[in-house]
Amino acid sequence: MDAPSSGPETIADFYARVEAALGPDRRLPVAVEEMPGWDIFPFEIDSLRIKPLAPLADSEPDRRGENEDECWCADPFEPKSDDRLVWWNENWKLSTDLFGSGLPIMLWLSPMTHCDLPTMPPEVAAGIGPLMTTISAAIEDLPSVGRVQLAKYGDGGAHLHLLFMGRPSRMLQLRGSPMLDWEENLPRVPADVVQRNCRPIVEALISTFGGQTGPAAG
Ligand SMILES: [Zn+2]
Repeated sequence: MDAPSSGPETIADFYARVEAALGPDRRLPVAVEEMPGWDIFPFEIDSLRIKPLAPLADSEPDRRGENEDECWCADPFEPKSDDRLVWWNENWKLSTDLFGSGLPIMLWLSPMTHCDLPTMPPEVAAGIGPLMTTISAAIEDLPSVGRVQLAKYGDGGAHLHLLFMGRPSRMLQLRGSPMLDWEENLPRVPADVVQRNCRPIVEALISTFGGQTGPAAG
């Protein structure tokens, strides 16, 4: 049965519209009048090509931890041996990667309860707003940060991990979503610098929400 034309669009119709815009080699033209033409776009557009459009997948693949029994949260929580752990309390944990980022700070906030954003229990959802505010303010207080950026992707791991990224201060080329393209190419921030940048954020969290410092900020 066809979907009603008055309802939300199907992915088949969405995909068909994208296909209709393809060139003869199944590539979309670079939208030079959009962000690729802005001064914050990190790549030279003369040599830029978009990859040929892939076919629709049969279905969405399972992510890591899609089944709660196989998620990291099914393992015993051992904060002392988690070298990515920045801060935690009984409901939340904040993590980083000591050698993984080119930004002054990149943090992941996760609830201890197994859920994703669309499946967050109301009592968990009620706690996330004040945390987002405190973490964002502490990141923007760092001397090397101009602005905090937030993201929720969730294409790899099923357990909610809300991403906080510090955009380097006065590096205006890194504004907006192209910052992530820069991030991959910037030199890695040394682990001791990541630790020093994490500490004021942990202090702000402990003073408002209690909890403890993790090894990554120790
Ligand atoms: Zn989980």
